[in-house]
Amino acid sequence: MADIILFWHRRDLRISDNVGLAKARQKSAKVVSVFCLDPGILKIDDVAPARGAYLIRCLQALQDNYKEIGGQLLFLHDSPSEGIPRLAEALSAQTVIWNNDVEPYAKKRDKAVKAALQEKGIAVETFWDQLLHAPGEVMTKSSDTPYTVYTPFWKNWAQQDKDKPAENLENVEKLTEKEQEAAQKAGAIALPSPSDLGFEWDNGFILEPGEKAPRDRLAYFCDRAIVDYDEQRNFPSEDGTSQLSAPLKFGTIGIRTVWEATQKALENTRSDEARNGIIGWQKEIAWREFYQHAMYFFPELANGPYRDQFKDFPWENNEDYFQAWCEGKTGYPIVDAAMRQLNETGWMHNRCRMIVASFLTKDLIINWQWGEKYFMQRLYDGDLSSNNGGWQWSASSGMDPKPLRIFNPASQAQKYDPEGQYIRQWLPELSSIDTEYLVTGKIAPLDREACGYPQPIVDHKQRQRRFKALYKDNKSE
Ligand SMILES: Cc1cc2nc3c(=O)[nH]c(=O)nc-3n(C[C@H](O)[C@H](O)[C@H](O)COP(=O)(O)OP(=O)(O)OC[C@H]3O[C@@H](n4cnc5c(N)ncnc54)[C@H](O)[C@@H]3O)c2cc1C
Repeated sequence: MADIILFWHRRDLRISDNVGLAKARQKSAKVVSVFCLDPGILKIDDVAPARGAYLIRCLQALQDNYKEIGGQLLFLHDSPSEGIPRLAEALSAQTVIWNNDVEPYAKKRDKAVKAALQEKGIAVETFWDQLLHAPGEVMTKSSDTPYTVYTPFWKNWAQQDKDKPAENLENVEKLTEKEQEAAQKAGAIALPSPSDLGFEWDNGFILEPGEKAPRDRLAYFCDRAIVDYDEQRNFPSEDGTSQLSAPLKFGTIGIRTVWEATQKALENTRSDEARNGIIGWQKEIAWREFYQHAMYFFPELANGPYRDQFKDFPWENNEDYFQAWCEGKTGYPIVDAAMRQLNETGWMHNRCRMIVASFLTKDLIINWQWGEKYFMQRLYDGDLSSNNGGWQWSASSGMDPKPLRIFNPASQAQKYDPEGQYIRQWLPELSSIDTEYLVTGKIAPLDREACGYPQPIVDHKQRQRRFKALYKDNKSE
């Protein structure tokens, strides 16, 4: 009989192009897979209902994929350091395999699980899967230290060879009835529904959960839209970006598969514009990796600003302003449209993420960590490294060589939503307002009242001056 290898899925919810899973299959035909619903992560206050529901639906799809190839996916609802060793022991697994993660919580958890397994004499093997280059592979040439600036990171990262997709999993042996019973005794359960875990989400997802939708979307995007990415990426009313962020967060698509598709698109390209589009998109994939490397090497980022100057920043933290921002009722149309898109779909266009983050921090003078938390409570692609990186960039507290960035909501709307299509889509109450007033935000007070739309809660120019003064004072202290 083949040795049992237990494969622990975490943020790699797929059987295709999965490095650790392919290694497990090379070792044995009897690969048993498990996902542990960790109460330490699945906290209702921290996890967006859309993200929690998407996770469960992806697990359902993964379980179906396993069934198709004759294998199985087990579920535990437990602390991993208790549940994984207990299950491995009950199945007499020789080895437990998983793919590494960069987040501080995951690193601590994995250390505890590894120690508990080793105590029982069970071997552990881990691999890097979610990144094209693992932390440590892209370091400064002068001092072999992690990069803290993106552009040189990108230059080094882009030059390095990338792996081909890992072999897809197939032909695995099923557990015997006796082994199934042992797994159940060790805590294996049926997959709960999203609402069993408290995640109520009826608004659907921009991409269906599971492996198929991201694969189809990648093919469509690389065939058509990627060549126009540089032109289209900043216009939130266009379908100009890949929308692959949630699949990349949960690993329903492999990063090597994604990269290979972009390289093929490059090979098939003749024009400079199209090349710029493709390379522009590859640069975003590198941003994702930059932020994950940063989180790995500087875990303190998860708890506060990177730049010392922001450690004691005198944020005003007005709770009424915060509430208005969350609900999309600030009276600034582009900001409110974006927040309503977030609340209704669990996703927001990148340009708008930057606009609302700048508005929260520089206009409302509210600590960026409030916004970071709210995003994690709403985004279906919510990811610690990218979200924290995006917020710190917008707040000017992070790894960005430009000291102070302040977005003017009106100029942003004029430039990136010139016809007001995005604003009208998410703020239908303003549909009768002329485009000029909509995008400049200069809607007359009486018209606002008639539409049931709020007056601006702050004055952008005044608040910009105030923020700059606070920034200057804090810098000189
Ligand atoms: C304040 C703020 C918060 C953010 N929070 C998140 C988050 O929680 N999760 C998340 O995945 N992204 C986050 N981003 C980055 C970015 O907005 C999203 O990745 C992007 O909008 C997702 O849409 P897409 O898949 O169509 O992106 P595309 O434009 O098609 O980009 C392709 C992929 O590259 C990666 N990517 C693109 N831009 C960035 C970026 N700036 N930083 C890191 N990775 C990037 C994503 O994985 C994305 O799917 C945030 C950005 C900001 C400014």
